[in-house]
Amino acid sequence: MYRGRLAPTPTGYLHLGHARTFALAAQRSQAAQGQLIYRTEDLDAERCRPEFALAALEDLRWLGLLWHEGPDVEGPHGPYVQSQRREYFLKVWQLLHAAGGIYPCDKSRQDVARALTAPHAEHEAEPLFPPSLRPPLEHGRDVTQPDGTNWRFRVPDGETIHFEDRLQGPQAFVAGQDFGDFLVWRKDGFPAYELSVVADDHAMGITEVVRGADLLLSTARQILLYRALGWPEPHWAHAPLVVDAQGRRLAKRTAGLSIRELRAQGRTPAEVLTAPVGTLLA
Ligand code: GLU
Repeated sequence: MYRGRLAPTPTGYLHLGHARTFALAAQRSQAAQGQLIYRTEDLDAERCRPEFALAALEDLRWLGLLWHEGPDVEGPHGPYVQSQRREYFLKVWQLLHAAGGIYPCDKSRQDVARALTAPHAEHEAEPLFPPSLRPPLEHGRDVTQPDGTNWRFRVPDGETIHFEDRLQGPQAFVAGQDFGDFLVWRKDGFPAYELSVVADDHAMGITEVVRGADLLLSTARQILLYRALGWPEPHWAHAPLVVDAQGRRLAKRTAGLSIRELRAQGRTPAEVLTAPVGTLLA
């Protein structure tokens, strides 16, 4: 059974790019006669707001998207709000810790801030974590709970992570070159994006991850987590990013292009989903 998901982060109103990526996720699950799961990714307590979480549900409903499980319809894999799933994430931290692939790491606040949300392309400027700063292998093995410090996953330097993307074709990223040791747990007591998304896609039985192509590099990191946990990987389908006439990415806050703004201008769901971007900018 195909199971797909919509996983918005409520830090602002959803924009045209979200609309199209989420609609693609919905279409793919429908075409496969599968199920669609809606999950609110609100682990960044400082930037996420309940009104944006509500607005996202409303906007996607207005677009005509239908999901079978989610915060507003419930289902067997809930809660569907990540801030309510800490106990489960803690168990996944324990599994990773027992497998020996992670270590505690004191890094700057800036690093932590970057780990709060999915590293979309604009954040990819993060410098690689220098292997010279890694602690010895046994460091942190006797620790029993993660809080109070950041934890990183030790990547296998020089190993190429290959995967087949159903929309973008074959992909390859080199650990230690394209990305370095990445955060899995934050010192504020919550998991970082890479851990929470893998943990939940697994728990919710997701068979295909549909999301924007700006997360391709994250997929390589997530594959390493699936392997460390001994979990089967889902299939991957990264949607092309929506760009304006100048080829610039539409940021979440681009004025006039939030779904609700377009709706207020009298655009129909069909226009929001299919009209050439240039005509919607007008
Ligand atoms: N909540 C994440 C975001 O909005 C989802 C990323 C993903 O689909 O894995 O960026």
